[in-house]
Amino acid sequence: MSLTLSTKAMAVKPSSTLAITAKAKELKASGIDIVGFGAGEPDFNTPDNICKAAVKAIEEGFTKYTAASGIDELKLAISKKFKEFNNIEYAPNQIVISNGGKHSLTNVFEAILNPGDEVIIPAPYWLSYPEIVKLADGIPVFVRGEKEQGYKVTVEQLKAVTSEKTKAVIINTPNNPTGMIYSEEELRKIADYVVEKDIYIVSDEMYEHLVYNDNKHISIASFNEEIYKRTITVSGVAKSYAMTGWRIGYTGSSPEIAKLMGSIQSHQTSNPNSIAQKATVEALVGDQSGIEKMFIEFDNRRKHMYKRVSKMKYVSSLEPLGAFYVFIDVNQVLDKKYKGEKVESAQNMANILIEDYKVAVIPCGDFGFSDHIRLSYAISIESIDKGLNRIEEFLDNLE
Ligand code: PLP
Repeated sequence: MSLTLSTKAMAVKPSSTLAITAKAKELKASGIDIVGFGAGEPDFNTPDNICKAAVKAIEEGFTKYTAASGIDELKLAISKKFKEFNNIEYAPNQIVISNGGKHSLTNVFEAILNPGDEVIIPAPYWLSYPEIVKLADGIPVFVRGEKEQGYKVTVEQLKAVTSEKTKAVIINTPNNPTGMIYSEEELRKIADYVVEKDIYIVSDEMYEHLVYNDNKHISIASFNEEIYKRTITVSGVAKSYAMTGWRIGYTGSSPEIAKLMGSIQSHQTSNPNSIAQKATVEALVGDQSGIEKMFIEFDNRRKHMYKRVSKMKYVSSLEPLGAFYVFIDVNQVLDKKYKGEKVESAQNMANILIEDYKVAVIPCGDFGFSDHIRLSYAISIESIDKGLNRIEEFLDNLE
């Protein structure tokens, strides 16, 4: 036996968002005045009351292993939040707490997939979905939500790609990278389809608290018993509570799936960090004013960025209604020349922007849309303006 490596592991694409964010941070650290639109995380610190709860946990010696799927106190807090915010009843034995939403999603696919099972992933998609599905021996099947459809997919499109092997559909609302949200009517149609086909729906609601313009977040599992049985609801505290580094995500599912995920986790990572679990209890049941302030700030930035992008030449976007991203169509830029050479791809455009204009943006090829870029507005208004001025300068220099 020679020293070969795992074919499955070698097929995994490293996360390009993390790579670009790391490059921007590196340039910044070396003294270069870079504007980073890449971040998938709030620029705010975790609210004080949450940090204090963590300190208290340490001081009280809450520093040992906990139950693998999380502590009862946090499961109860999540169960209450599911009921009050999402209108879904999940008892504590239906909840599994993991090391971030990414880990929750990994558990989900490991628990439901057999080799060769297909998972429908609407594009544009968060770039980790296909890799997570493949690592769980599943096969990603893509379907495109075009710009004219608000970057969302219809049941007719789902039907066209459903096969005997289809095991699940992923729906992510509010969406990363588009900032779009599915309406109740759209979700109800998808729910009916999923029930008719008797498949699972993995509902990624990571950005559920970041929904703007008087829209309300809607959870697909809340519609009726049939869709509830087939849904695995995924959420976490990273985005809404500025807790990306704490690594807490969670799922609500049937008790059977929860039990499987709990056993998988018990061998892979054991419990999520004990201190972060206590901090998350405070996040969910404590004072919510910290996140309300962040929400207002995100909303101001969203409006500001969208207004400015709408006035720029060669690019366009739809008004984002959730999360903290503006998804920008750069098709016209790709037809232009920069310094005598065709721009060609969003990836190229991103390279030019970081090299020549010191602006980091996310090219969305790995999100299934190679003619779009994603800008995050999880940075200050001043930085947004500085970065957009630089992008405008680039657009002015196109021939
Ligand atoms: N789902 C979506 C749509 C995301 O954008 C992210 C993070 O970027 C996650 C899940 C995972 O979040 P985390 O693992 O940080 O809790």
